[in-house]
Amino acid sequence: MSETHSFQAEVKQLLDIVINSLYTDREIFVRELISNASDALEKMRLKQMVEKEIFEADLPLEINISTDDTANTITISDHGIGMTREELTENLGTIAHSGTKAFLKSSQTEGGTPADVIGQFGVGFYSAFMVADRVEVFTHSYQKDGEHLKWESDGTTGYQVEEAPGQKRGSRIVLHLKEEYVEFAKAERIKSIIERYSNFVSFPVNLAGEKLNKVEALWLKSKNEISEEEYKEFYQFTSHAGDDPRYTMHFSADAPIMINALLFVPGDNQEQFGFGQMEAGVSLYCRKVLIDDQPKNLLPEWLRFLRGVIDSEDLPLNISRETMQDSSLIKKLNNLITKRFIKFLDKESKSNPEAFEDFYSRFSRFIKEGIATSFEHQQSLAALLRFESTMSEAGKVTSFQEYQDRMKDGQEEIYYLTGLSRKSIEAKPYLEAFKARGLEVIFFTDQVDEYLMDTLPDVGGKKLVSADRAGIEFDDVDTEGESLSEEDLEALTSWMNKELEEKITRVDAGKRLTSSPMAALAPEDAQSPQVRAMMKNLGEAAPVVKGRLEINPRHDLIKNLNVLRESKPELASKIVSQLADNALLVAGLVDDPSVVASQMNELVADLIS
Ligand code: ADP
Repeated sequence: MSETHSFQAEVKQLLDIVINSLYTDREIFVRELISNASDALEKMRLKQMVEKEIFEADLPLEINISTDDTANTITISDHGIGMTREELTENLGTIAHSGTKAFLKSSQTEGGTPADVIGQFGVGFYSAFMVADRVEVFTHSYQKDGEHLKWESDGTTGYQVEEAPGQKRGSRIVLHLKEEYVEFAKAERIKSIIERYSNFVSFPVNLAGEKLNKVEALWLKSKNEISEEEYKEFYQFTSHAGDDPRYTMHFSADAPIMINALLFVPGDNQEQFGFGQMEAGVSLYCRKVLIDDQPKNLLPEWLRFLRGVIDSEDLPLNISRETMQDSSLIKKLNNLITKRFIKFLDKESKSNPEAFEDFYSRFSRFIKEGIATSFEHQQSLAALLRFESTMSEAGKVTSFQEYQDRMKDGQEEIYYLTGLSRKSIEAKPYLEAFKARGLEVIFFTDQVDEYLMDTLPDVGGKKLVSADRAGIEFDDVDTEGESLSEEDLEALTSWMNKELEEKITRVDAGKRLTSSPMAALAPEDAQSPQVRAMMKNLGEAAPVVKGRLEINPRHDLIKNLNVLRESKPELASKIVSQLADNALLVAGLVDDPSVVASQMNELVADLIS
C-alpha cells in the first residue's frame, strides 16, 4: 500500500531554492549523500557498542556506489542505521532544525531570496534534487521490528512511502538524473568527485566494487602533508558546510593529555543570519574511532561555533557517553583546548590584524559570552576585545593592551563609556574632564556591552570604571574663564539642592566640565540603565537610581542662572528643573522621558508668552 504525503511548507521552499537557484556547483550532491551515508554508519557503529538486537547485524559498514549510464541513474547505498516509517517522514519530509525553519519563514514574508545565505550551509539530502527529477530511498532500520520501505519523490509537492521487500539494513538512494545532468551517470565522472574527499570518510567507499579510499584521519597527519584545499574539503565534508573555513587550527599535545585536534572557525556566523542558536560541532574521537559527535561539556558553550575533531588516546574506548560528559578528563580537555584556542586567536590578532578584525566583526558576541560565562578565561578573552576610544580614529579599533601601554603615570583605572555609537557618546558631557587631562576613554557601542561591563570588573589588575560615574578623582587642571565666587556658588548650589531635592542626591561644583554647564553622574555602584531596563521588562522592581549633579562654575549658563534665581525666581525654578532633567536623560537616569518633554513644552510656552 502506498501512502502519499505532502512536504512541509519550508521543505517546499528549500527545494525550490535548491533546484532553481542555489548552486552552480551541482556536483556537491555527491558529497552530501556520502556524508549522510557516513553519518548513518557512524551511528550504526555506536549502536553496535550498546545494543544487542540489531537487524542483519553482520552486514559490513561500508558505502557502495554504482552508476548506470543507460538508465541514467546513480545509486548510493550504506548499511547504516536506516530509517523507520516515522523517521522517513520526519527526516525527509520536514526540516528539523528550528533555526533553518524560522529563517526560511522570515525570508518568505520579507520576500527576499535567501539562496545566497542558505547556500552557505549544507542542504543535505535535498541536494539530490539539483540533478535528479526522481529520487527513491529504499531503507530498513537497524531495529529488528523495522519494515522494508521505499520513499519516492519528484521534489515538487510531496512524496510516497510504500513497502519494498528485499531491502537490506541501511539506505539505498537511487537518483534518476535529469537530462541535463546525465554526466553523473558516468563512473569516471563520479570517481573523480568522490576521490576528492573520500579519504575523510572513516568507512570504505566502493565504486562499482572498487575501493576508492584509504581510510585515514586527516587530523592525525602532520601539518606539512596537508594542503589548504584538503583542509577546506575536510571542513565542508564533516560539517556539512558550504563556506570556507576562516581559521584552521591543527595541533597536537602530549601533556597533560595526548590530543590531536583539528578545529575550524567557519567563514560565516550562522547566528548572525538569524538561524537561531548553533549546535556544538566538534566531535570527539579516540584513535580514529568516533566516541561522540556532539559531546556535551567538551568545549564551553560559547565555543559552539567551532567545527572539527578532537582525538584523544587517553579516553577509555568503552566509556559511556553519560559518565564521560562529567569526567575529569573531559574537564581537562575542555580547559586545555579553550586555552589553546584563545592563544591561537591572540596570535592571529597580532600577525594578521585585518583578518582578525573581520572575524571579530562577526564572532565578537561569542567572545563576550565567554567573558561573561568562563571565569577562568575571562582575562585572556578580554585581551581579544576590540573597540574605539578617544585615542583611536573613528572606524579604527584598539585593545586593552594598547590602552594600558598609553596609560598615564599613576593612572589606576580604565575608563569607558557605553552608548549607541561613538557620536552619541561624544555628544555627552562626560568626556571633557578626561580629554582635559589626557585620559583615554573607551567607547563600547555594542548592545551587549553594558552587560559585559557588569561581568568584567577589571583588566590586568586595573578596575574598569564608567566615565559617567561619581567618585572618580580628578587632578586639578588649568581652566579657562572666570568662575562664580565661592559665596555665589555656595548660594547657588544650596538653592539648587532645594529645588532639585526630589530628582537628585546632591549638586556640587566640580572639576569635570570645561564646555558643558552641567552633567549628571550615576552612583558608583548603580546598575547600568540597560540592566535596569531589563529588570523592569522581567517585571522585577528595578531600584530607583538617583544621580548627582555636577555644575561648571565657569559656564555662562550657570552664571546667568545665578542671576535669574533672584530676578525671576519662578522662571529660574522651571529652568533649573529642565536643565537637571536634560542631564539626567543623557545619563540614562530618567525612567519616563515623556514627562521631561511635556515639562519642556510648558517652559517654552512661558518663555514665548
Ligand atoms: P542533515 O544531514 O543535515 O541532518 P539531511 O537533509 O541531509 O540533513 O538529512 C536529514 C536526515 O535524514 C538526517 O539527519 C538523517 O536522520 C536522515 N538520513 C539522511 N540520509 C540517511 C541515510 N543514508 N541513512 C539514514 N538516515 C539518513
